[in-house]
Amino acid sequence: MTSLFRRKRSEPPTPPPEPTATGIDCSVPGCPNSDALTCEYRDRRGRICQLAFCPNHGAVIDGVPYCRRHASTVRAIGHRASDPNGLPDVNDRTPSLVNWISRELDAHIRTQLEAAAGEGESVIVDDAVHLSRDYNRNLRWERSWRLVENTGLVLKISVNVSEENDALVRIIVGSEMVADGIPPWIARRRMGEDVDVAIDVAQRQLFYQYLQESIATAVAEFRGSGDRPHAR
Ligand SMILES: [Zn+2]
Ligand SMILES: [Zn+2]
Repeated sequence: MTSLFRRKRSEPPTPPPEPTATGIDCSVPGCPNSDALTCEYRDRRGRICQLAFCPNHGAVIDGVPYCRRHASTVRAIGHRASDPNGLPDVNDRTPSLVNWISRELDAHIRTQLEAAAGEGESVIVDDAVHLSRDYNRNLRWERSWRLVENTGLVLKISVNVSEENDALVRIIVGSEMVADGIPPWIARRRMGEDVDVAIDVAQRQLFYQYLQESIATAVAEFRGSGDRPHAR
């Protein structure tokens, strides 16, 4: 406590930097700001984004300015963002989508696995979205939660979206796909539909409720079947 107090006194908190007038207009329609920074996202094929966003509409991560979409991509893949060969294509929204759904389901999945954990078992959670392949060798972005014991994996739950269908969210528990669906906001965007906020909230709740119930049922069946999901 004493050292913290001393440090506070000798180093007053630095105020956030003043916005610098860059003379670049923000790309968001209707935004009047001309202090935008150009998004420096560059994908694994070397393609760049080049949209310019003001501080209200973009983000600076580890000193690099990004537009809103690419800030979300970089956050989704975590430390892998530092590998230039691992950066998703400039138009790929999949990692962000997987991360978004995963964050919404995280508490539920942790609770399910922790409740199902037996003696000597613990829960390990991915800290970011990563690329993997399904049994057809198709690429997919996924994030997973694992129940493990010292001899290895007991049960894995993953949220993934594959490259060939970049709107379809799939939930896999063990080796079974227990739920899949296109998130309602994406379905509406595809249809060009607009709904009011109350309907949007209700549709999202139903979607997550469906995913959560599917996961809870699958975890209960896994434990109820004596941990042999294929023996039924
Ligand atoms: Zn703006
Ligand atoms: Zn960008």
